[in-house]
Amino acid sequence: MSKRAYNFNAGPAAVPLEVLGRAQAEFVDYQDNGMSIMEMSHRGAVYEGVHNEAQSRLLNLLGNPEGYKVLFLQGGASTQFAMLPMNLLAEGQTAGYVKTGSWANKAISEAKLVGDTFIAASSEDNQYKSVPNLANLQLPENAAYLHLTSNETIEGTQFQEFPDTGNVPLIADMSSDILSRQLDVKNFGMIYAGAQKNLGPSGVTVVIAREELIQNSPKHIPTVFRYDTHTKNNSLYNTPPSFSIYMVNQVLKWIEEQGSLAGIEAKNREKAQLLYNAIDNSGGFFRGFADTDSRSNMNVTFRMASEDLEKQFVKASEQEGFVGLKGHRSVGGLRASIYNAVPYEHIKALVDFMGEFQRKNG
Ligand SMILES: *Cc1c(COP(=O)(O)O)cnc(C)c1O
Repeated sequence: MSKRAYNFNAGPAAVPLEVLGRAQAEFVDYQDNGMSIMEMSHRGAVYEGVHNEAQSRLLNLLGNPEGYKVLFLQGGASTQFAMLPMNLLAEGQTAGYVKTGSWANKAISEAKLVGDTFIAASSEDNQYKSVPNLANLQLPENAAYLHLTSNETIEGTQFQEFPDTGNVPLIADMSSDILSRQLDVKNFGMIYAGAQKNLGPSGVTVVIAREELIQNSPKHIPTVFRYDTHTKNNSLYNTPPSFSIYMVNQVLKWIEEQGSLAGIEAKNREKAQLLYNAIDNSGGFFRGFADTDSRSNMNVTFRMASEDLEKQFVKASEQEGFVGLKGHRSVGGLRASIYNAVPYEHIKALVDFMGEFQRKNG
């Protein structure tokens, strides 16, 4: 096999090599059925077995919280930005949003198209270099929900704690840090995530929700955009992205093998620490973008003295087999996305390369 790249892509992103190997082994003939999983009917027992297994594995990794269901939807997290207010923000209510950066802002824009919203907290004044403190949030009586983005993929910030919102459902876009650490699902009414960062390939969006939030959608909403349609039909109302769901199931199995969420969390901390230490110990040659207490363990954003130097760095990194280190065009700089599937050794290689680059150019 050709050499694997040091893949620091933000999404679609690295998938564990073991998972790719297993998928390859059963790609043409899935478990002696004479065809690939992607060629099977989504109404057949074989595919449904995989579909249901992926749902139960996911809930199991999250400690089997009572009263929660898993949906597999399409259209990415971006579709959830709209589907959420369409389903849960009624006339006479208002939806609270925590404004932490690029993705939160997209969610807010969509909700505004649907109904009344308010900004419950914001880090805009700090150029989104931090996440706001949510300890003393005041939510109005008619709040339909409070939405936050647990990890801002572009700015590289992450919440370490979540607020207690009482009777108001807390909804989180966890696209870029789902299953990267232990999580008390019971704090949340709903969690959603596009799969292509921490769960496998693009094409499927995972929704984990308290049943009462997804079983009675307003009837004026078109069928396919109603949560209750997908709840009643076990996410088989229309043809699901079956191959993507199969891949998610494989990734979930791999997470179990890593010691489940506790194991993954420990590894992710170690990986992030290695990289942040390299940045902090570079004497200012590399500088972290996010405030220290809001740093993400998934997307490490950093800058150098000039854009020119950053360009040189990216170019030199590409020659050494590193992929995806250029920051998002909206904030510039550099970004290493170190999701679950990025091995420690790849971050070690990056840190070594950074040291080498500094010796030559510092
Ligand atoms: C990538 C990302 C999205 C967008 O996901 P799509 O699946 O492309 O719609 C939304 N929110 C966050 C936090 C993301 O990282």
